[in-house]
Amino acid sequence: MTSAATGDPLVRLTGVNKWFGDLHVLQDVDLTIDRGEVVVVIGPSGSGKSTLCRTINRLESIEHGEITIDGTPLPAEGKALAALRSDVGMVFQSFNLFAHKTILENVVLGPVKVRGKSKAEAEKRARELLDRVGVGHQADKVPAQLSGGQQQRVAIARALAMDPKVMLFDEPTSALDPEMINEVLEVMVGLAKDGMTMVVVTHEMGFARRAANRVVFMDGGRIVESSDPETFFTSPTSDRAKDFLSKIL
Ligand code: ADP
Ligand code: MG
Repeated sequence: MTSAATGDPLVRLTGVNKWFGDLHVLQDVDLTIDRGEVVVVIGPSGSGKSTLCRTINRLESIEHGEITIDGTPLPAEGKALAALRSDVGMVFQSFNLFAHKTILENVVLGPVKVRGKSKAEAEKRARELLDRVGVGHQADKVPAQLSGGQQQRVAIARALAMDPKVMLFDEPTSALDPEMINEVLEVMVGLAKDGMTMVVVTHEMGFARRAANRVVFMDGGRIVESSDPETFFTSPTSDRAKDFLSKIL
């Protein structure tokens, strides 16, 4: 997929800098993600990919720069932050489902508590989403009764239930057994095709080729390269990206 950027920015990072103590983990990061765009973030371990994701919904604060979601600067705290944060769905490597709640309850909870939906309305939507990710028949089970791939698909449904404007995925398939990776990637490809704005940290280059509009390569806390997948995979310009690709492809 290589549709052009829409020119309608949804997430914008400008001059973002972050330190952990003396460690300068994000260095002058500028990144604009348009509505409907799918951006795959790749790079070596420790290059700042997770931190980048976590700053976008302010799980991490930043020391310099600005992040806006749909034109609104990320507030530091309080109700305004909670509201903006619920516009940003996040799926982690570990699924983080509530172990003692059913699959359905896991998906219903956020919309009722945070979005103020009625239980009936939230359940209807939750069942639709669980069907969409292919686990509708598991709604009354608890997470431990599902495979890792199924649990991760529930985690995606749970994030979607909040009607996010953008979805962040941080290595969503890294903890999965190989045979379960594709079932999760297929759901993500479907979302991309449906026009969801997505930021995806992944080592799955097949996904990047199929679904990304843009590949962003990070190294040492910086965005070193940003181009369409075809260009990135066939003719990366930086030595660091060439070196990285030679190791993983
Ligand atoms: P990536 O996701 O690309 O592997 P991270 O964003 O997790 O990289 O980490 C970037 C750097 O920041 C690494 O050197 C990591 O050790 C460091 N780091 C990440 N989180 C913290 C933290 N909470 N406190 C201190 N250092 C951290
Ligand atoms: Mg990471």
